[in-house]
Amino acid sequence: MRVAERIQERLAAPFEVADQQIVITASIGVAFGGSDSGSAEDLLRDAEIAMYRAKHTGKARFEVFDTAMHRGALLRLQLETDMRKALELGEFLVYYQPVVSLSSGVIVGFEALSRWHRPDRIVMPNDFIPVANETGMIIAINQELMLLACQQLREWQKQYPSEPPLRLSVNVSPKQFAQPDLAAQIGNAIQRSGVDPGCLDLEITETIAMADAERSGTVLSQLKALGVHLDIDDFGTGYSSLSRLQRFPVDTLKIDRAFVSRMDSDRDTQEIVRIIISLAHNLGLKVVAEGIENRSQLDLLRKIGCELGQGYLFSKPADLQTIDTLLATNRAASSPWFQSYAAHSS
Ligand code: C2E
Ligand code: MG
Ligand code: MG
Repeated sequence: MRVAERIQERLAAPFEVADQQIVITASIGVAFGGSDSGSAEDLLRDAEIAMYRAKHTGKARFEVFDTAMHRGALLRLQLETDMRKALELGEFLVYYQPVVSLSSGVIVGFEALSRWHRPDRIVMPNDFIPVANETGMIIAINQELMLLACQQLREWQKQYPSEPPLRLSVNVSPKQFAQPDLAAQIGNAIQRSGVDPGCLDLEITETIAMADAERSGTVLSQLKALGVHLDIDDFGTGYSSLSRLQRFPVDTLKIDRAFVSRMDSDRDTQEIVRIIISLAHNLGLKVVAEGIENRSQLDLLRKIGCELGQGYLFSKPADLQTIDTLLATNRAASSPWFQSYAAHSS
């Protein structure tokens, strides 16, 4: 560790190359060789694992290898291998969560959400999307999801014509957002499925959208040129610049579940939600409240003028068959689900 510190100290001093002051930093991984350690390759691999940990926890640090890191790395490698196989086997399925008009209870669209159906269990996005994002596999996963979901949307639109037509929201991950050809990829899925791009919402989290203003502006404009709508997902959890929000070609704000879940017990949160909604409306944006779980949250949201919502109160994300049935019931105005909603809402 003393050696690692010494190396970092020496490297911290700026040096000159072609009249330019250069500063570099180093992330260092340390591993111990001993009687029970294996080959030189093993030792180097352990040091490398520790170095990646050092990079990950913040640059210019050092980490000493331990066996937990080794286990972590093995698990991660296994997960990556399994995911590649899953992609070939078609184990990634699209679930749909209805987006509902809060004034009428009518389903106006769906958010497409990935589920990994392994032979023994269903894996939730939070357990594979981060790795898929780091490895770049998210691009293949989402391309397939997008194609399937767009085709399904066309089916539903044919079966349940309405004005405006049913919509579909798809999430865009940080890795996808960084792809120079993201717009082309999405344009491709739109073309192959023949869906009307005006019925698509691309969801980008506040954090990604606001991170690098110039780049974001360019990418968002390219996406917008496809004719799709753009949504800021998980709004309120990151930092938004209001002037950027106004300049970006955004159509909808999705208020994060964290606010909705607290609003029926906390007046300050309620006030924040009210302000977000009126801000959005003043900027000409639509608002979707995420994570509505009970009646009192719904009633409050309607009272403060929120027009759209998603949440377990209406439906959890569900597979195609379940959603098919739900949609049929919802679109038949005399259905029990619709009636109970209408009765409560007056
Ligand atoms: P998100 O886009 O904010 O999606 C909403 C999440 O909130 C979903 O979790 C949904 O199941 C959950 N949710 C909806 N209503 C309620 C509610 O009333 N109560 C509670 N407690 N939760 C609710 P899910 O499906 O686990 O997805 C988590 C995140 O993973 C998503 O957050 C999204 O960022 C990401 N994700 C999911 N599928 C995909 C995908 O295909 N591609 C990409 N890039 N990201 C995805
Ligand atoms: Mg989303
Ligand atoms: Mg969200």
